[in-house]
Amino acid sequence: MRCPYCSSLETQVKDSRPTDDSTSIRRRRVCPDCGGRFTTFERVQLKELTVVKRSGRRVPFDRDKLSRSIDVALRKRPVPPERVERMINGIVRQLESASDGDVTSEQIGELVMEGLKGLDDIAYVRFASVYRNFRDAAEFGQLIGTLGEARPAEPERGGT
Ligand SMILES: [Zn+2]
Repeated sequence: MRCPYCSSLETQVKDSRPTDDSTSIRRRRVCPDCGGRFTTFERVQLKELTVVKRSGRRVPFDRDKLSRSIDVALRKRPVPPERVERMINGIVRQLESASDGDVTSEQIGELVMEGLKGLDDIAYVRFASVYRNFRDAAEFGQLIGTLGEARPAEPERGGT
């Protein structure tokens, strides 16, 4: 595995063990050339997934990209990385089993929203507000209404 910092091909595995849910192997690696440390995951891939955009354009499903957009929603939220990893695994498995390999951005977005809803309310609202691109405050209020617990009203987003 090439070092992401200096591109050396000599990186070594320091530690290798299954994640808590045993769906993947986590490997800590170190690069003897630059001392850089990084982690890789080995996972089962049941199917090659292709994302079909609204325009009809087809792009390979990019798990890292999905993971990054979820990380943005979860920024500074107290959610353990293992739970996030498990949620993403769940999303990917659902996509793999619900399709012949072609999935839409909408399908992915809905699954992420479902997953985040169970993980963290704030992250859910953050992701949904970007993903759904709220047209009006009423729609936003509706979404908040679907959450289990009421939270203090936040003054941003002028109502009425
Ligand atoms: Zn290196």
